[in-house]
Amino acid sequence: MDQQEMVQEGLQHLLHVYNRFPIVLQQGTGTHVIDQNQVQYLDFLSGIAVNALGMAYPQIVQAIITEAQKISHVSNFFYTETNIRLAKRLCDISFAKKVFFCNSGAEAIESAMKISRKYFARQEKEQYEIISFHQSFHGRTLGALSVTGQTKYQKGFEPLLPGIRFAHLNDLNSVKAVLTPKTAAVLIEPIQGEGGVFPCEEKFLKELRKLTQENNILLILDEIQTGLGRTGKMWAYEHYKITPDILTSAKALGGGLPMGALLVTDQVAEAFHPGDHATTFGGNPIVSAASLAMLEIISAPQFLDNVTQQGDYLKEKLLHLRSKFPEKIVEIRGQGLMWGIEVTVSARDLVQGCLQKGLLISSAGDNVIRLLPPLIVTKSEIDLAIEKLMKVISE
Ligand SMILES: *Cc1c(COP(=O)(O)O)cnc(C)c1O
Repeated sequence: MDQQEMVQEGLQHLLHVYNRFPIVLQQGTGTHVIDQNQVQYLDFLSGIAVNALGMAYPQIVQAIITEAQKISHVSNFFYTETNIRLAKRLCDISFAKKVFFCNSGAEAIESAMKISRKYFARQEKEQYEIISFHQSFHGRTLGALSVTGQTKYQKGFEPLLPGIRFAHLNDLNSVKAVLTPKTAAVLIEPIQGEGGVFPCEEKFLKELRKLTQENNILLILDEIQTGLGRTGKMWAYEHYKITPDILTSAKALGGGLPMGALLVTDQVAEAFHPGDHATTFGGNPIVSAASLAMLEIISAPQFLDNVTQQGDYLKEKLLHLRSKFPEKIVEIRGQGLMWGIEVTVSARDLVQGCLQKGLLISSAGDNVIRLLPPLIVTKSEIDLAIEKLMKVISE
């Protein structure tokens, strides 16, 4: 079956919820992936910030094989060694004291919302409201959708969860305006990803941390996209010199396999008792092994320095690109290896154009294209991507 026929089969049998490109990706190594017609693409998408180490990273592949030969799913009635080691590792490299594993970003958000409610319920306080932000993205399950600040995703799914209030990013007064005696938590992405790559200002996030502390409410950082080295630090919160009460992780966490996690302080951990929350697949040993292998690599001392260096290089190239096309490029936003380019033309057309030139990127909204290369990207690959991008923008 050729690629076109395969796409037809996909259209026929897969529920049509994605506007996919008519390409069947077949195989990848590092920053490159090939489709069924053996056309090669340079990957500046990383499966939406999932493949932090690119595709088929040897240590991850080996870890998956080794674990799969030993043990697979065991249920959460039992422990597995890789999962315990992973939980410890995540605590060692973060503010957190305890971890709950699940299978996706949205599920991590659900867990964060539930533990916030339980935290106050245990104190016999009626605090259940959550403050989120316009343009945010937290996932597609009903709870996560309710805290997502983009009505286009919510239309037709109402009624959504009550008690969700929205503030404006980088505007502390707008947070104060929706703070009530019933507020339990503020949920925020350090850099809004899907919403168009909008970073929190340092002053704002620091003041938000202070505000939540003064009011005894919880700060939930959604680091599903920004975490695990993407911004040049293990967690984006390190740039802001704050720590949250709760953090959600996913995307890159499973080393390419599906995994989400809820990371919490000791104090928040007390809220959940046996029976309060669960998920069948959470902490699967094979995914845990892949995750451990990934963390081993990215927590090596020079690894994140290199992400920062490549990120600075990419930023410089993007700023140069903007100066060349001031009428088409409005703004460059981001940090590390997470960049948004706001354009005056259709982002989807640019993504399509890049695809035809063998470069995988994505859009984040109608007017922003987003670059999320694997963290192992090299300068020459950045040069090549910029060259392709330049050609597409100039056309
Ligand atoms: C992708 C994403 C989610 C949702 O994760 P899923 O695994 O798709 O459910 C939530 N929050 C942020 C910041 C994300 O980037």
